Amino acid sequence: MTAYNPNTHAWLLQGGTAAEREKLSSEIAAAAVCRGSEPPCGVCPACVKAAKGLHPDIIRLEREEDKASILVRQIRALSEDAAIAPNEADRKVYIIPEADKLNPQAQNAFLKLLEEPPKGVCFVLCAAGIGSLLPTVLSRCTRVRLRGEEATEPSPLLDAVVRGSEPDKIMAALSFEKLDKASVSDALTALWRGLADEARRAPDPAGREKLADLADFVADLREKAAFLSAGSVSGLLAARLIQSDK
Ligand SMILES: [Zn+2]
Repeated sequence: MTAYNPNTHAWLLQGGTAAEREKLSSEIAAAAVCRGSEPPCGVCPACVKAAKGLHPDIIRLEREEDKASILVRQIRALSEDAAIAPNEADRKVYIIPEADKLNPQAQNAFLKLLEEPPKGVCFVLCAAGIGSLLPTVLSRCTRVRLRGEEATEPSPLLDAVVRGSEPDKIMAALSFEKLDKASVSDALTALWRGLADEARRAPDPAGREKLADLADFVADLREKAAFLSAGSVSGLLAARLIQSDK
């Protein structure tokens, strides 16, 4: 399975380990240039070149060795390069392995390109965390969340929701009020995954069912969150958490 979809022109692979992001970004890039019937087929000349790192239409944008971030002039150079038609494939893929190292000016310079890339051009951005990325960049990407070590870290929010007293639960729900839209979505995703894990580990069927129901509610809330204010998300979550105690 890959995240490749020919209609997508910007992916953001977030979370997971660097090796996981590297593997998936390489698969997406190979799929974009593949000449086989089920991309990435792994055997056509394009896939073979991609696997060897030799495909001329798969380009990596790396941070310069002596620099802490990816600079705006690198994005301008990328933009000029992107205007040139692909060499061999129908598509041209730019992989940015450390997109979280794009400085704000570089991100702003990148926006137009992300929104309306030249024909056939696509981008695969990789980031351990998305805290340094502008919401305008995030909103232009199809985000793929990789499950990494961070997902198994104990979360105070999850702990309050699962094991807290009623006031703990209300405080946990209220913490959503202060978040921006992208963070609300991330926090709900983390909470949903945590609840699903807890449900799998619950010793008794009744506890399992209760946690699974709550996980479903959070998954549903995450879908609706795009259309709700952070305050509404917080209120709905608080109401549901209190009800689950009754
Ligand atoms: Zn292929």
